[in-house]
Amino acid sequence: MDRRTLIRTGLATALLAPLTTPRMALAAEPPLIPIRTDPAQVFRTTVCLRPFRAKGPRIESESVGRKQVIHNYGHGGSGWSLSWGSAAEAVWLAMQSSPRKLAVIGAGALGLTAAITAQRAGAEVTIYAKERFPFVRSARATGIWSPDSRVAQTTAMPADFPVRWERMARTSVALHESYVGSAGNPVEWIDYYILRDPEPESLPTAPEAPEAFDPGFASLNDRLQGLMPHSGPVAPETTPFAAAQVRRAANLSFNIADYGRQLEADFLLAGGRFEHMEFHEPSDLSRLKEKVVINCTGYGARALWRDESVIPVRGQIVWLTPQEGVHYGFYSHGIGVLARRDGIVVQDFGPDEAFGWNDANETADPVAAQATLEKLKTVYRA
Ligand SMILES: Cc1cc2nc3c(=O)[nH]c(=O)nc-3n(C[C@H](O)[C@H](O)[C@H](O)COP(=O)(O)OP(=O)(O)OC[C@H]3O[C@@H](n4cnc5c(N)ncnc54)[C@H](O)[C@@H]3O)c2cc1C
Repeated sequence: MDRRTLIRTGLATALLAPLTTPRMALAAEPPLIPIRTDPAQVFRTTVCLRPFRAKGPRIESESVGRKQVIHNYGHGGSGWSLSWGSAAEAVWLAMQSSPRKLAVIGAGALGLTAAITAQRAGAEVTIYAKERFPFVRSARATGIWSPDSRVAQTTAMPADFPVRWERMARTSVALHESYVGSAGNPVEWIDYYILRDPEPESLPTAPEAPEAFDPGFASLNDRLQGLMPHSGPVAPETTPFAAAQVRRAANLSFNIADYGRQLEADFLLAGGRFEHMEFHEPSDLSRLKEKVVINCTGYGARALWRDESVIPVRGQIVWLTPQEGVHYGFYSHGIGVLARRDGIVVQDFGPDEAFGWNDANETADPVAAQATLEKLKTVYRA
């Protein structure tokens, strides 16, 4: 597994440190129970589209007729992770005219966090959306803190994006942490393992292959050094993994079934209202009574705002039933696994960075799901 493979999972920060650090290797603690990979454990397969923009998420203000619209969409594979920080940026723009009432379009991760942030800033908020949890795309995410996963393109992001991104990431992590320990465990610290095998000393000369398309996703996590707690090598023999090298880092895991419900509850408790509404073009916003609107339509922004800078990056997740005592995550040879309370999610990141690029097919592929399970089986020692 190479550096770029790790980077595209958004897990590079703590995990790319050399595996041979002078520190003594940690033991896997408590002893890790292998995940049962029997197909009978599978209870569903879901597909989701990451709303990727080469320039990074669109967070800016625009006048549309008599409305002031603050866009807050296009967070790629980092929408949950960056949600609170992105909300802070968007709400700051929205509050410039001190509106008493404010509309949010969209009830996914970005819409709910923007709405709650606006309430905390003193606004009365109504969310207008055609779908709510559990039907929004945000409900089909892996649920790991991955703030720079497919969030921008190195060559296209504006020069100030890394600084804005760092601010969003730091704001977000503090707000996510405020949910740790809440009833229902919407956010938890978990141990995440990176499994690697040494690169072969010398590779046989490969026949000339055509250059593969490379989306060139930006890697920004180095800016967050020290933000996450412990990380270190683990003695592989203390784990059930077959890999020769194992590294462990603490990470935040989102139990999305509960987090979505809690965000909705927090919004309603603070006096928020939901209204079911679908918008077909920007002029439909004239139906709203609020003058200031935060637009959190995710991938839906591509159609609604005719914004072709939003590229779908498809991802499929195979869900296994939660397993007693299994409460960790790992990345191994293109497979990412996260054992959440609402299910064990298994995702295949494919052979290269282009996997899922510009693929808007949201139908689950059972053959690929079977192949994902087969790969998962090879992660553990016989
Ligand atoms: C496989 C996969 C795994 C992922 N894993 C992670 C992860 O582990 N961590 C992480 O941080 N991110 C992850 N992501 C990314 C994350 O899921 C997205 O960035 C995030 O869900 C986007 O949220 P959103 O609120 O912008 O969009 P959505 O969840 O799509 O919400 C959009 C809302 O707008 C509404 N809407 C849209 N169009 C209209 C319209 N025309 N009229 C009315 N309402 C409309 C929808 O009904 C919905 O309520 C993952 C993505 C995928 C595909």
